[in-house]
Amino acid sequence: MAKKISIIVPCYNEEETVRTFYNEVRKVVASLDYYFEIVYVNDGSRDQTVNEVLKLREEDKSVTLIDFSRNFGKESAILAGLEYSKEADAAVVMDVDLQDPPELLPKMIKYWEQGFDNISTRRKNRDGEPPIRSFFANAFYKIINAISHVEFVDGARDYRLLSKRAVNDLISLKETNRFSKGLFQWIGYDGVCIEFEHVDRSAGETKWNFMKLVNYAIEGITAFSNTPLRLATYTGIIIAFIAFLFLLYTFISTLLFGNNTAGWSSLICILLFLGGVQLIFLGIIGEYIGRIYNEVKQRPAYIVKSIINEQVEE
Ligand code: UDP
Ligand code: MG
Repeated sequence: MAKKISIIVPCYNEEETVRTFYNEVRKVVASLDYYFEIVYVNDGSRDQTVNEVLKLREEDKSVTLIDFSRNFGKESAILAGLEYSKEADAAVVMDVDLQDPPELLPKMIKYWEQGFDNISTRRKNRDGEPPIRSFFANAFYKIINAISHVEFVDGARDYRLLSKRAVNDLISLKETNRFSKGLFQWIGYDGVCIEFEHVDRSAGETKWNFMKLVNYAIEGITAFSNTPLRLATYTGIIIAFIAFLFLLYTFISTLLFGNNTAGWSSLICILLFLGGVQLIFLGIIGEYIGRIYNEVKQRPAYIVKSIINEQVEE
């Protein structure tokens, strides 16, 4: 029997792209001797996405639908797809908008057959992206790489082929705040990164706006580094040291030159500065506590309304 490869496709309001994606992928894999199961994870779409997938299923029973009870986010959709695919020989995570070129699939599979477990992809350039978004994306990668032990590759996509054991390792990580870009790297294994040129969306619109990206960045940093917390300690030590020097200076100058009461404005500046610093670090601590709170609730990362997956294996 042919080896089975699951292609996991998170979809949120993607009625326009579901079918083109299917056609393109089928075209590319037609000549390959594997059993491909295309797993569409419908992440609470409000359009005709589900119907489009069901129409495909009528033609091809290797199309599977995992239908969420509401929108849980792409991370949850990826997790659901991986959990569903744990029996497959390999799994590929892919966007449905064809920004992850299907033409790379044969190459990824070849690497997997050579023994690689974790085959990633990366965009070489950020064409077609607003410059402001590129600027912050670059800043994000610089910061997170400086403060975390996991390597984050600039331009890395979630488009990835994972061997069966890599999939099983990923789903054994039980955190509900999932930042897949980091988790994929965290599990390790030998990997290859395939580079490609930026491709525009085939249809529809990106689901990201600026605030969502900022939150995504905070999610990534808090999930993979404690450095922001440590920064509070270091900042405290530095400010306390400066305060001590200033105290010595004030003490000595008062002894030598007497007390003069000037300094009201510097006092206010210092007070406001310290107030600001304290609030920032309170906020940072709050971010971590919020995440602890989310984890201890142990809510599932998603709820499945239905799975439609009756298989006819070759
Ligand atoms: N997506 C999802 N849930 C969401 C948002 C997005 O499953 O809440 C899917 C979306 O359908 C697409 C992929 O995640 O297949 C990437 O989304 P998008 O193309 O909007 O992101 P971009 O490529 O602009 O980073
Ligand atoms: Mg996209």
